Amino acid sequence: MVFSSAVMVAQEMQMPPIPVDPAVRIGKLDNGLTYYIRHNEYPEHVANFYIAQRVGSINEDDSQRGLAHFLEHMAFNGSEHFKGNGIIEFTRSLGVEFGSDLNAYTSIDQTVYRVCDVPTKRATALDSCLLILKDWSNGLLLDPEEIDKERDVVHNEWRLGEGPGMRMYQRALPKMYPGSKYGERLPIGLMSVIDSFKPQTLRAYYQKWYRPDNQAIIVVGDIDVDHMEAKIKELFGPIKVDPNAAKVIPEPVPDTKEAIYISEKDKEMQMSEVSIVMKHDATKPEDKGTMSYLIEDYVKSVISRMFNQRLQEMTQEESCPFFQASADDGQYILSRTKDCFALEGYPKDGKDLETLKTLYVEARRAREFGFTASEYERAKADYLSSLEKQYTNRDKRKNAEFGNAYRDHYLNNEPIPPLDVLFQTMQMLAPNIPVEAINQALPELISVTDSNLVVMEFAQEKEGKTYVTEKDMAAAIAAARAEKIEAYVDNVKNEPLVDVTTIKAGKILSETENTTFGYKELKLSNGATAILKKTDFKDDEVQMQAYSMGGKSIFGAADYTNLKVFDQVIGMSGLGNFSSNELQKALAGKEVNADATMGNTRQYVTAHSTPKDLETMFQMQYLYFTAINKDEKQFQNLLTALEMGLKNKSLNPEAVFSDSLATTLYAHNPRFTQIDVKDLKDINYDRILEMAKDRYKNAGQFTFIFCGNFDEQAIRPLIEQYVASLPSTGAQPEDFNETLTLAKGEVVNNFTVKTESPKAIAFETWYADMPYTLENTVKLDAVGQILSMIYLKTIREDESAAYSCGAAGGFNVSTRQPKAMLQAYCPMNPDKQEIAIRLLHEGIANMQKSVDADQLNKVKEYMLKQIDVNAKQNHFWINTITTWKDFGIDSYTDYKKTVEALTVDSVRDFLNELLKSGNHIEVIMLPETK
Ligand SMILES: [Zn+2]
Repeated sequence: MVFSSAVMVAQEMQMPPIPVDPAVRIGKLDNGLTYYIRHNEYPEHVANFYIAQRVGSINEDDSQRGLAHFLEHMAFNGSEHFKGNGIIEFTRSLGVEFGSDLNAYTSIDQTVYRVCDVPTKRATALDSCLLILKDWSNGLLLDPEEIDKERDVVHNEWRLGEGPGMRMYQRALPKMYPGSKYGERLPIGLMSVIDSFKPQTLRAYYQKWYRPDNQAIIVVGDIDVDHMEAKIKELFGPIKVDPNAAKVIPEPVPDTKEAIYISEKDKEMQMSEVSIVMKHDATKPEDKGTMSYLIEDYVKSVISRMFNQRLQEMTQEESCPFFQASADDGQYILSRTKDCFALEGYPKDGKDLETLKTLYVEARRAREFGFTASEYERAKADYLSSLEKQYTNRDKRKNAEFGNAYRDHYLNNEPIPPLDVLFQTMQMLAPNIPVEAINQALPELISVTDSNLVVMEFAQEKEGKTYVTEKDMAAAIAAARAEKIEAYVDNVKNEPLVDVTTIKAGKILSETENTTFGYKELKLSNGATAILKKTDFKDDEVQMQAYSMGGKSIFGAADYTNLKVFDQVIGMSGLGNFSSNELQKALAGKEVNADATMGNTRQYVTAHSTPKDLETMFQMQYLYFTAINKDEKQFQNLLTALEMGLKNKSLNPEAVFSDSLATTLYAHNPRFTQIDVKDLKDINYDRILEMAKDRYKNAGQFTFIFCGNFDEQAIRPLIEQYVASLPSTGAQPEDFNETLTLAKGEVVNNFTVKTESPKAIAFETWYADMPYTLENTVKLDAVGQILSMIYLKTIREDESAAYSCGAAGGFNVSTRQPKAMLQAYCPMNPDKQEIAIRLLHEGIANMQKSVDADQLNKVKEYMLKQIDVNAKQNHFWINTITTWKDFGIDSYTDYKKTVEALTVDSVRDFLNELLKSGNHIEVIMLPETK
C-alpha cells in the first residue's frame, strides 16, 4: 500500500528512485538465474554462499503437502557431486558446522540454503561451495532409500513443533484465509503425505519449481568478485529452462466483507491470547522502487513505536485488563500479498473480552485523535538514532547482513541502497514529515468497519470453564465502537537523568598497561579498578561490565524466591527520580542500555551504548549503584505476569522436564530449583531493593571493564565523574560462599507425563572436579563437539530416533573446585526412545575406547576458524579479561597452539579422566501410555 498522505509529501519533494548499492555486482544469466556478488572484508578470510528460490509450500499441489520442506532435507542426503552426507562431511572438513553455518529453511513462499563462514584461504574450497549450490539447484539424487530414511526425521521435526499453539493455528488457518491456498499450506505439511508419498511426487515438485529463473545465487565475503562471476557463469550458464515452464504466480488473499471471528481452545494452552487484525493490501514489489517507499516504511515504523509505548504504559494501571500487549503493521501471518495492522494481548484471568474491547478502543483513539507532538518527537528520535547507529558502523557490516538484504531484494524487491544515501535521505526527510502527516496515515492502517477484520481468541481448555463465543467477541467489538473516548495525554518528566552538580567526582590514581591483552588498568580513588580496551571491531559499540564477588551465594534460604526473581524485579524498576515508564521516555533517541544482575557468585552491572551516548550509559550505571527507584505499579504487573505464566506450567511438558532436570541435577537443593506459582507470595520488593543496596554499596571492590570504540581521552573524565565518585565502604573485597550442590554418583530420574501429543526428552550430564586450565577447557570443548557429531550421525541420521540432539562441554566455575561438565540433550521420537537412549550411552562408551581422527580434525578446523571470528567481538574480550583477572588464565594467547596439539589419544584420555569420577546424572521424560 502507499499512503495518500505520505505520497502527498513525496510528490512535493519529487521522490527519486532508490539507488542500488554500487558495491554489489548483480547480474542475470540468459536462463534467468540472478546473482549477487559482493566483496566484504568484515570479518576477513571468510565468505557466505546462498541460493534463494522464490518457491515454497504455497507451490505444492494437494498431493505434495509438506514436500517443499521434505525436499530441503533431501538436499543434504545425496547429490551429483556429493554422495550420501557428502555435503555435510565436505563442509565440516573446512570448519563449517552443520546446523549453524550450513543450513536451510523452507517457508510458504521461499526456500533458502546457505553455507556460511567458509574460510577463504583455499580458492578451490570456494569453487566447491559453488558446486554445492549448483547441486542444490538441479543435481539432487532423491534416492528412494534415502527418502525412506528421511521420512522419520521430518516426522520427528513435526512432533517437536507440535504444541497447543501449533494445533490451534492449524485449525484456525483455513478460517483466516477463506478462499485462499494460504489456509492449507503450512510448510510442515501433512504427515499422511510425508509417511507415504512416492519418490516421483517429490521429483515432480523439484523439477517443476527448482529452475534458474526462480533462483538467485548470493556470494558475500573476502572473495575475488570477477572470479566468482566467471565461475557462476560457467557452472549455471548451461542449465536449460523449458520455455513453457510453469510461472510462479503470487497467491492472492481475497478481501472479506464480514468480520471473521475465531475462537480456539487447547488443553495444554497455559494462558489466553487475543488478537485483532485489520487487513490491507501489501505494497506491490514494483512499487518499492522509489523514495516514497522509504517514507511509507518510516511512517509505519513510528506509528508502531508510538502505539506500543501507549500499550506498555497502560499495563501499569491495575485496572488494565491485560498484562502485556503489542501492535505492529506487517505481513498478514503468512501472506506476502496481504498486510495488516495487528493488535495482540495477553489478558489477565477472565478478562479476555475486556482486553479485546480495550485494544479496539485504543486503536480508535489513535485513529480519531492521532498521536501527540511529543510522542512523535520521541519516536522520530528513536528511528533516526537507530539508523545513525547502522550508518556509524557502515564499514563493518557482516556478510550475513548483506546476504539477507540481497535475498530480500531478489524475493520481494526490498531496496538495497548504500547506507550513506539511506541515512542522509531519511535525515533530510523525517524532520519534514510533521505529526499531522503521520496522523493522516492512521485511517489507512486502522479501520473501524467489519470489512477485512479478523478477531481471534486462543484459550485454555479446562473442565467446567465457559468459553468466549464468536458472538461474545462481536459484542465486545460493537461495545468498543460505541464507547465515548478522549484524546491521550502524554506525561513526560522534563529533568536530567542525574543532577551532575550533586556528584563529587573522584580521581584516577594510577595507570598500568597490560601488553598481552592490550588494555590499560586504572586505579580509582574509591578503590575501584577500571580496565580500558579500545577496539575498532564495531564503530558503533562500547560495552561495559562491572563485577565483584559475592552474588546470590551471600544470601540464605529466606531469600531463595527473591533471588530467583531478582534480575527481573531490578530490571523493571526505575532509576533516580524516574519510574520505569518515565525512564523509557527520557531515553528516546538514545542507543543505550544498562542492567544490574546477580549471578551465583558475582554481582554485575552491564551496559552498552554507541560512542555518542556514552555519558548516558555512565549515568545509568551510576544510578544502578546509587539510586534504583521503587516502581510499585510495574512490580504489580510483573507479579500478574509471573502468576499467569507459572500457574499452568504443569501443562507444558518442556517446562515439567526442565523443573525435574534442575531438581535432580542440583540434588534437590531449593536454592537451584525453578520458581513455582506457590513461591510468588514470598516475593518481597522492599527486601529485593535492600539486597541490591547491599550488593552495590561498595563500588571499591568492583572491576569495571570498558571495551569498544571510545575516545581514550574523553572516557577518563567520565570515569572520574561517574565511577570514581561511587560510594565505597573501604572494606576488603568480599568472597563468595560455597553453595553449588550437584548430584553425585550415578543418578537416574526416569518419569512419565501425560500430554496431548507424546513427548520424550533425555538429558545426560557427566562431570568431575578438574583443574580449570586452558588445556582442559579446549579438550572439554572438543569432547563435546565430537560427541555431538556422533549423536547426530547415529541418532538422527542413521536411526531417525530424534530430530535434533547434541552435546557440549564447559567448566562450571561458580565453586572453589571447578567442575568439568559434559552434557547431552535429546528430544526423542517416543516410538524409538529405547534406541535413542541406547545410542546416547553407546556413543560416549565408544568414544572412551577411541576417538575418530577425522572427526577430531573437523572439530580442530572449526575451533581454529572460530577463535578468529570470536576475537573480533567486544564481549569475547570482556570474558577473556575477566578470566585473566579472576583465575590468572590466559585463554587467548596459546589457544591455537593448544587446539593444534590435540590428538585422538589426548582427547580420549581426557574423557576417561572425566568419567572416572563416576558422576552421571540422567533425566528422562517419557509419555504416559494407557
Ligand atoms: Zn526441517
